[in-house]
Amino acid sequence: MSFALFGLAVSPGIAIGRVQLVSHATLEVSHYTVPVRQVEAEVARFDAAIAAVRGELAGLKTISHVGAPSEVGAFVDLHMMILADPLLCEVPRKIIAERRCNAEWALVQEMDELVAQFDQIEDAYLRERKQDIVQVVERVVKALLGKPGRLTARKDSDEAAIVIAHDLSPADTIDFRQLRIAGFATDLGGATSHTAIVARGMSIPAVVGMHHVRQLVKDEDLVIIDGTRGVVIVDPDKQVLEEYRLRKTELELERNKLKRLKTTRSETLDGEAISLQANIEQPGDVAQARDVDAAGIGLYRTEFLFLGRDDLPDEDEQFEAYRSVVQAMRGRCVTIRTLDVGADKALRGVARIEANPALGLRAIRFCLSEPKLFLMQLRAILRASNYGTIRLLIPMLAHAHEIDQALAMIEMAKTQLRGTRHRFNDDIEVGGMIEIPAAALSLGVFVKRLDFLSIGTNDLIQYTLAIDRTDEAVAHLYDPRHPAVLRLIHQTIQTGTRAGLPVSVCGEMAGDPDLTRLLIGMGLRQFSMHPAQILEVKQEVLRADAAELGARVARALRFDEPERLREALEKL
Ligand code: PEP
Ligand code: MG
Repeated sequence: MSFALFGLAVSPGIAIGRVQLVSHATLEVSHYTVPVRQVEAEVARFDAAIAAVRGELAGLKTISHVGAPSEVGAFVDLHMMILADPLLCEVPRKIIAERRCNAEWALVQEMDELVAQFDQIEDAYLRERKQDIVQVVERVVKALLGKPGRLTARKDSDEAAIVIAHDLSPADTIDFRQLRIAGFATDLGGATSHTAIVARGMSIPAVVGMHHVRQLVKDEDLVIIDGTRGVVIVDPDKQVLEEYRLRKTELELERNKLKRLKTTRSETLDGEAISLQANIEQPGDVAQARDVDAAGIGLYRTEFLFLGRDDLPDEDEQFEAYRSVVQAMRGRCVTIRTLDVGADKALRGVARIEANPALGLRAIRFCLSEPKLFLMQLRAILRASNYGTIRLLIPMLAHAHEIDQALAMIEMAKTQLRGTRHRFNDDIEVGGMIEIPAAALSLGVFVKRLDFLSIGTNDLIQYTLAIDRTDEAVAHLYDPRHPAVLRLIHQTIQTGTRAGLPVSVCGEMAGDPDLTRLLIGMGLRQFSMHPAQILEVKQEVLRADAAELGARVARALRFDEPERLREALEKL
């Protein structure tokens, strides 16, 4: 039976294909009966999985001795204790034998019991320890299923798959690059969650925040993902399918037409040069940036090198990644952002229990609390600066003392390298992300200490409007055109530029062609976005008159009433 489901449109385009359900994020395991003669083998399979996870954790423990955050060690110890508890490693064996069921089912039954008991505990801290139990069980289930928590390619099929999941982490979406994934839809998620950002970067149509899609579709169902309108059509009838195929072809033609703009100079009608740079997550993304002739890399989110793995990249591995990017950009500037982990980008094994992870130990706060890890990354970036033009960008700054500490760490990394054979650019430029309202409201402190500013509108909106960017329940309140947001952006561009600092926007607003004229009118001359957006934004740049827009935007921003403001912005 054909039906349609609605959610948040987060990555435009149309995908048509067969469903591949993904359930590892929710521990939805299958339940089947094991014949009596195989019970012993099933128990042995369970024991082997426990042993494998014990080995995995021991490996993590080793890493934690060499430069990993000290919390890794504490978490690994705790998880090892949980794994060794008879309630987890003995009781499921009994369940398998008594109920003749499969090992993963037995384990999840026992976990549910334990979690229910934890829910009764009054002490909030202890109650939250249940997350640790769930994480340990997740590891064991993954070992049982023979997949270390990663998506796998479809077997026996040439068709690209449509992934349907309860939730997907940014690390999951990174795996999509290797697999043939045409599109995805999830129950959870917001428009500027990193999962959505990665999808847009890869031009994979996606719809999130669908609430029940995971329950309502089956493996191999034929579905259409309309990532522009936020619709998933399950089992479409012939006519609908034909219409969508036609629309898909039209969209591809439109995209191809844009390619002719690749070599056109990016400047407005009145001759203002507008630099269009690329955001990347991995060295492999540089090819896409070069394909559209990006003026440079305006944001390299280095944390993706750290996600979705049990170990941490050492200095040499990081150096190789950064060097490969800067060499591939052949003289064009590469802005490398230091590790922005935390919130929806947690390192494996360091997931802390935080009531509000987006307000927690994230980005520079995390790095300053883990100086060994931070210094290792800084040395790797500095070493790569010997091979091209690199700028260093620090995320999530709010306080003057954080800037000072970060700058002191950079100096320390330089001092450490001076005693070695490694060369680096001593004059490397250091910039700060303006993504916390406190930063946008105390720009003097930033301008005095830094060489450039980059506005992270995704977080700036999240923190200004107090809206979790990953939470679909408040996604309708996430508004880039809110007067408060626009004033903070405008003020940052104007103050930074007046002080002679280059200012860019590297949040998702920069890649939205509907906002290009507004940003140019605010005085923005440097945009950084996913490579897939660059030509569309360039098309808008070519039609814009910067001087005229400047006057009109200044007038529009005087309106307090959202309706009047919106009207004025629409007229741009
Ligand atoms: C931002 O916050 O706008 C940004 C560019 O950084 P991220 O999306 O990685 O948090
Ligand atoms: Mg950010």
